[in-house]
Order: sequence, then C-alpha cells, then structure tokens
Amino acid sequence: MNKITHLLLLFISATSGFGQDNSVKYILNHTLDSDKIEIIIEFDGMSSNTASLVIPRSGPGTYDLTNYLAFVSDVKGFTESNKILDGQTSMGSYFLFNEKDEVLTRVSYQVDVKKMETDLLGGFASSKLRENYLGILGYSVFGFMADQQEKPIVLEINTADDWPIFSTLRPALERKTGSDSYRLDNFSLLADAQFLLGSNVQISRVEGVKIPLFVAAYAETSIDLEEIGRRGQISLTGLADFFGYVPMPHYTMCYEFLEPLSDQHFYGFSMEHLNSMTASLNVSQAIAGYDPKARIGGIVHHMGHSWVPLRSYGVGYRPFEWQTAPLIETIWLNEGFTWYISYYYVLDNKDIISFFQRTIDNAPEYIKRKSLKELSLLGSTQYSLDFNIGRNLFSRGALLAHDLDKQILEKTDGKKSFKDVMLGLLKWTEKNQRAFEYDEIASIISDAVGVDISDTWSQWQKPMR
Ligand SMILES: [Zn+2]
Repeated sequence: MNKITHLLLLFISATSGFGQDNSVKYILNHTLDSDKIEIIIEFDGMSSNTASLVIPRSGPGTYDLTNYLAFVSDVKGFTESNKILDGQTSMGSYFLFNEKDEVLTRVSYQVDVKKMETDLLGGFASSKLRENYLGILGYSVFGFMADQQEKPIVLEINTADDWPIFSTLRPALERKTGSDSYRLDNFSLLADAQFLLGSNVQISRVEGVKIPLFVAAYAETSIDLEEIGRRGQISLTGLADFFGYVPMPHYTMCYEFLEPLSDQHFYGFSMEHLNSMTASLNVSQAIAGYDPKARIGGIVHHMGHSWVPLRSYGVGYRPFEWQTAPLIETIWLNEGFTWYISYYYVLDNKDIISFFQRTIDNAPEYIKRKSLKELSLLGSTQYSLDFNIGRNLFSRGALLAHDLDKQILEKTDGKKSFKDVMLGLLKWTEKNQRAFEYDEIASIISDAVGVDISDTWSQWQKPMR
C-alpha cells in the first residue's frame, strides 16, 4: 500500500468511527489535575435489561486474582433517550444498569490510578501515576461490555497537550502529543497492551535485531537506556537463533524504576505480553551502565514467553475469562519449558538443572503432595503470592523438559531435541487455532519428535511424594 492510500484509509477509519464496521469505541481521558482517568465505551445499542460492564480481575500469565473493580467509580450508562443510568455492582466483577427497556449506547467510568498503585503492593500489578508519567496496563483499567470482547476496537487516548504518548501497540520513536488513536482486532489485544504517557518517558530503539525493538522507560533515578537495549538485543538474538524465527512484528521492553511507595510495596516481578514485557523495579535495581556480567535471564525468559505460552497455550490461558482468575492446568509448561530453554540453551547455563532439583527437593510438604496438574490449579491464583508454588511449578516443568530432552536426544541419535518439542507445540497451535487440552499434550510432543514420551510424561504427573 502506498503512503497516500494508507493515510486516506487511516483518515476514513478515524472519521467513520465505530458502528459501520461493528467496532466498539474506547476513549481514555487523562487530565493533569486528577488522580483518576476516565474510560468511555461506545457501542451499538443494547438492552439496558441485560447490559453488563465487565471489569477484569486477572490477565493471562499473572496467575493472580486482583480486584481492579475496587478502583472503578462513577459508572454511568447513557441511553438513546438521553437517560443517565447509574451502574450497580452485583455479585461478581461487573456493573449492571437496572433500568427496564432502555437502549444503552455508551458507558463511562473513572479509574483511580493513584489508589490502585497504593493498594496493590506488587509493583507488577498496577498502572502508575507519577511525576509527568502515566503508565497504563491494559487489563487494569479497560473493561468491556459482556459478549462484545471479540469485536474490533477503535481506541482514542487524550492527555495533556504536551504529553507524548507511547504504546506497545505501535511502538515508534516519534510520538504524538496530546492525543492518539489505535485500531485493534479485539478486547484481548487492548487488555494486553501498555501505554506510557508523559514527558518523563524515555524511548530508544535498539539496532542489530531482526524486528523493531524498543526500550520505553520511566525512572526516578538515572538509568542507561543503551545498556537495557544491549541486554534486550542479546536476549532476542539468542531466542531467534534457538527457535529459528521471531513471531513478534515488533517488541517493547517497558521498564519502571520506582521509589517504593511504602515498605510493604515490592518490586522486581515482570510480566509478559504478546509483543512486550513490563518490568517494575525499585530504584535500587537501576540499570545504570554497561555491565558485561549482567544477569539477563529475566529478559530472555519474558521475551521467550512471546513464543510460549503467548503463541501456544493450554486451556484457560486463551480465550481468557477476564472476570475471574481462571484455573489453568499448564502453568508448569508455560513457565518451566520457558525457563528450561532460556537458561539451559539460550544462556547455555547447564548448572541451572541443579537449582531446579534443589527447589523441588526442598519444597514444603503441601507442595510435594500435589500432582503436577494440582499444583498448577493452585498456582492459578497465587503463583507469586506464595512463590514456593511458583518456583516449584517452573522447576518441575523444567525438569520434565530436561528428562524429555535427554530421552529424545538418545532415541533419535541427536537428530531431535527439546527444541522440536517447542516448535511442535507452536506448529500445532498455528494449525489448530485453539488451546490444547491437557490430555493432548503428550501426543503432540510424541508426534513432534517421533518418540513415544508417554512414560516420562506419566512419571512427572505424580506427586513428589
Ligand atoms: Zn514466566
């Protein structure tokens, strides 16, 4: 497409708005004098009897239950006949508009970002409002009208006139100020996205990688963007060499280096997204200069998630039940397989196996007594809250991966390895376009490598005692 046609199409799509193509319009309004942001959702008319505004309580990969509804207020519904209805909370994470036989076309609500950051102690879980900075995690502020999450979305963001806007949806060094708009295929892409607004956001583009790679950072201390980019470049190149391809069209490393809000607040956990990662760190963890010995396992791991599970996953991960933290049986695969390939292969750290082994040997009894699937179900809501659960999940998954790897290498005279397991899972998802069932995993793996792995599989399903 040439540039003028492209601009014309952009103009048409921006001016025709929602409705014509069945899309839903979202508007995020931010002003400098408020701790809250406003979200407006406009849609084709729906009955006020049944309309419900769902607020997420989790996101894929958080393995955590977070009550984002607690930061939502002033929920209003607007009808075709110009009535304004108050949104009412009900039993779950949603609002109803208790009015008979009206046609609802718009809802609006406020999200208290300051309160969110104050009340949620894990830095990874919240959006942030700091000096000349608004950092938005999609699922922490955007809700959706029930049954509309598959519709295309037009998103408009409005902020202070001189505030630049960056998004992981369309990363670029050039940023618009004041307002910007985006088109997305569905709600899950909006929930997965991050938006970094404000004059204190630093952006750099990393050269020497196969796809556009960006660092977007907000820091309350001095940092070295080039060094973050260097670590990202090594990580992405290592993963690209391992897998043989890069599925992401672009990638952004979002970093925050924050003065802790309190002694109870904790920082250091990162989150993976389709084409980005977010790391919320304490200022004491600042990346301030070149360090050839820097540990980059966390970056490799979170970038690695852009392959698995973001593009190959078990039931529960996608499609996602936003209003709860759904039970997921395959967290050990999502985490353990990614830990294994990140450290054992990409970083060539063979000693990591003894760390995994020590972790499961020293596990508390309540963890040892659980089967692989039971531990994953437990981890669905408390992976990082009780990190005994989290690290035993990834350690068991990684040791299963290692046992599979040894068996496959031996039976195929080194022609196949665990890499073919990962590629087999990715190819299966691309072909079938759905989540795999638990009972399908062993045969997907066996088929991918031409080795019957069912004995090794069965062995690892059992409790540790
Ligand atoms: Zn992970």
